[in-house]
Amino acid sequence: MAIVLIAPKKNNLKYWQEKLREEASRQGEEVPVWVWPEVPEPEKIKMAVVWKHPHQSLYQFPELRLVSSMGAGVDHIMQDKNMPSHWQITRIVDEQLTRSMSNYLLAAVLGYHKRMEEYPLLQQQNKWGYSDEPERPIRIGILGMGTLGTDIARKLVALGFPVSGYSHSRKEVPGVRSFAGQPELLDFLQQVNVLICLLPLTSETRGFLNLQLFKNCRKGTFLINVARGEHLVEDDLLQALEKGYIGTALLDVFQKEPLPEVHPFWNHPSILITPHIASVTQPDAAIPQIIANYLRMMAGEKLQNQVDRQKEY
Ligand code: NDP
Repeated sequence: MAIVLIAPKKNNLKYWQEKLREEASRQGEEVPVWVWPEVPEPEKIKMAVVWKHPHQSLYQFPELRLVSSMGAGVDHIMQDKNMPSHWQITRIVDEQLTRSMSNYLLAAVLGYHKRMEEYPLLQQQNKWGYSDEPERPIRIGILGMGTLGTDIARKLVALGFPVSGYSHSRKEVPGVRSFAGQPELLDFLQQVNVLICLLPLTSETRGFLNLQLFKNCRKGTFLINVARGEHLVEDDLLQALEKGYIGTALLDVFQKEPLPEVHPFWNHPSILITPHIASVTQPDAAIPQIIANYLRMMAGEKLQNQVDRQKEY
C-alpha cells in the first residue's frame, strides 16, 4: 500500500516525499510515497496528501480512503463536491503553525495599538512627532474561535486587551466574551474595533466580509484577514474604506494569489499587504501526524484532526 503527494504548486515535494518515507519507517512501516503524476501502481494508493490539487487527480486511485491537507485549511479539498462519502479528510493541527499565526497577529495588533506605522514616516521628515495619545484604544474581535482563534484570543487576553470571539457554537475561554451564530453577529461587531478573520472557508463563510458586515462595524475598524481571500468581497472593502466603515485593512490572503500586479489594493493608502505568510506549514511538524493518520486508517482506528464533511471544516 502507498501514499501519493499531489501539490503541483509546491516546490519542495522531494523533501516531503523523502521525509514521509523516513517517518513511516521510523513508525514501523515501509510505505512507498509517490509524487503525482509519477505513480507506478495507482491501485496501491490508500492515502493522498494534497495542497491545491487538480480535483480529477484523486479519481485515478480506486483504493483511496484518506485525503490529508498539507495545511490547516481544507477548502481546496472540500470544494470538490463529488468526493465519495467513504473518503475521510484530515488537516494539520500543529503547535508551531498555531504559534506562528499568533505571532503574526500579535505583531499586527500591537503595532496598530502603538501606532508603529506612523513613526517611519515622521522619521523620514526628521520630525519628532510626540503625541499625548501614543496608543490607540483597541477592542479585539475574532471571527472563528477554533484552534487558531482560541490561541490568539488567550494571548491577547493575557496582554490585557478586551477580546470577543464569534463562532458557530458558544465557547468558554477565560476572559473572552463569546458570541455564537448569526443572531449574535451584530452585537459582536458593535463590541470591537479590531476585527480578525480566522474562519475556515466554507459554503457559509464565502464572502462573509462584505459591505453589509462592514456597515455594521464600528466606524474606522481595523480589519485583519488571515483566513482566505474568498472570505472578502474585494470591491466591498474598497467601498467600506472610502466610506470609513473600515479604517485600515491588513490582508495576508487574496481572491487571486499572487495578487495581480495591477490590483487596486497595492497602492491603496489604507491597505497593508503581506504575501500569504501569516503562518506556513513546516513539513517536519506536519509529517509525523500525517503518517500517524495513515497507520491509524490502515488499522481501522479513529483519525486525528478529522474534518466534518457536513460542516466543511
Ligand atoms: P478551526 O476549524 O479549528 O476553527 C474554525 C472556527 O470557525 C470554529 O470556531 C468554528 O465554530 C468557526 N466557524 C466555522 N464556520 C462558521 C460560521 N459559519 N459562523 C461562525 N463561526 C464559524 O480552524 P483553524 O483555527 O485551524 O483555522 C482557521 C483558518 O485559518 C483555516 O481554515 C485556514 O483557512 C486559515 N489559515 C490561514 C493561514 C495563513 O497563513 N494565512 C495559515 C493557517 C490557517 P465552532 O467552533 O463553533 O464549530
